[in-house]
Amino acid sequence: MAEILAVTFPEVNRVELRDVPVPSPGPGEALVRVWSTTICATDMKILTGKFPGVRYPHIPGHEWSGEVVEVGPGVGDLAPGTRVGIEVHVGCGHCQRCLEGMYNLCEHYGNRSEGHAHVGFTIPGGLAEYAVVPRRAMHILPDGVSYDEGAFTDNVGIALWAVERAEIRPGERVLVIGPGAIGLLALRIASLQAGRTAIAGTRADRLALGLQMGADATVDVAKEGDAAAAVRQALGGPADVVIEFAGTADAAQLALAACRRGGRVVLGGSTGIGTTLQIELATIVRGNLDVRGSLANPRWVSRRGLELIRSGMVDVRPLITHHFPLREFEAAWSTFFERKGSAIRVMLHPSGGAV
Ligand SMILES: [Zn+2]
Ligand SMILES: [Zn+2]
Repeated sequence: MAEILAVTFPEVNRVELRDVPVPSPGPGEALVRVWSTTICATDMKILTGKFPGVRYPHIPGHEWSGEVVEVGPGVGDLAPGTRVGIEVHVGCGHCQRCLEGMYNLCEHYGNRSEGHAHVGFTIPGGLAEYAVVPRRAMHILPDGVSYDEGAFTDNVGIALWAVERAEIRPGERVLVIGPGAIGLLALRIASLQAGRTAIAGTRADRLALGLQMGADATVDVAKEGDAAAAVRQALGGPADVVIEFAGTADAAQLALAACRRGGRVVLGGSTGIGTTLQIELATIVRGNLDVRGSLANPRWVSRRGLELIRSGMVDVRPLITHHFPLREFEAAWSTFFERKGSAIRVMLHPSGGAV
């Protein structure tokens, strides 16, 4: 094995499927045979040069799982054959934020020599037959969690962290805005505690899936003149908690408008730069709102997320709509971005068939 097949972005706005040298693990790293990788909207931001910190040529892929085949020095606890899911944020481990456990907020973002890595962003990712990742990026997949489910290691962590940020009390009314993969996962997790949940969005098929994943009601924002009023009706009162994963200013406006006074709003969708929000400040001040941002997931949240998958409390399988071998990456990419066949998560299998 001298060369492996990989998706590469040689420069901004160019994609190539080509053979690259097999990477070899350094201290604290392991070589992983990649079994399942999904495409995500962020991959388009990376391709188009809208994600700061990415250097080209780049191998993308940040939602994935695989099997350890070789370990570098200092990785004695992972035997070859161990099945792992990848958490993408690896903090430097020694800055103030990392010492607090908030690796997602590491002060040395992008600085590999300080020990920071962002898998699929600042170091090569899992849209390749093999990838080298730091040991700290890996979670051992529980028995019974498949590679396909394991590809959600990071996604489920992002959703769970937003729900944890919301501090939902049992019985509360919860609105989730944005029925994408992460929004739907957040909805599912929130529904485990909430009294009543609603999902708001603009696409009928996604809202229907929201009902399947635990929502009690839906709000089709495109059809409602007053979406906040529609939310109150759907929930039987104003939302105690709103979790937003749509990534638009309109969605953030609705989140603030639909929340009751003294409630909590978690904004998780708009992670890129350039989206601005104009709001009446009294909405927050006189509303006594807790408005919180939620970025990715700190260490061990994905661990708890995998446990939710293992126990069956969260089922990610309805989110996996398509499967492709790595060689058909182009078809997979267009299926995802053109939402062919109601695509939600499109799974690539660099090492073989669906697992
Ligand atoms: Zn992603
Ligand atoms: Zn750090």
